[in-house]
Amino acid sequence: MSPCINIDGWRSNIRFSSAHIIPEYEKCGSLHGHTYAVHAKINGEMDDKGIIMDFSLLKETLRGIVNRLDHKILIPRASKLLKIEKEKNNVKLSLLNKQYVLPINDCIFLPVSSTSAENLASYILNELVKKLSLHRQIESIEIGVDEGYGQGARVSKKN
Ligand SMILES: [Zn+2]
Repeated sequence: MSPCINIDGWRSNIRFSSAHIIPEYEKCGSLHGHTYAVHAKINGEMDDKGIIMDFSLLKETLRGIVNRLDHKILIPRASKLLKIEKEKNNVKLSLLNKQYVLPINDCIFLPVSSTSAENLASYILNELVKKLSLHRQIESIEIGVDEGYGQGARVSKKN
């Protein structure tokens, strides 16, 4: 097993606070919010300096990704249950028998079918892979998203 590096989002301040709706679940079907933390684990071989990857580069890249989500309403663009209509400065969300009209600048539209912790972790992982040029010695990347302290989802990808 190759060595790994770990980033803990709570302790490294890679966090964001956002609102969302998960129409698939009755309890989460109302607009509500969480503070999320993003964790990362990277497995790979060390370079000749004894480093798998620069911690600060990884943290800065993750912060750049999560800052776009911070203090926004997370809208799942690919949702089958949520009807999304963009008007001039607003977005109208219809789900089941409810409608929300929200300022468009307060929203971020994500390419996911629901804004579960699992899907947010996949989204962040994909963004991270796009932004980092990963050298060959990196074998896998894992991203964790905690929805509040003590519960979260993890996804991983081989390089
Ligand atoms: Zn929630």
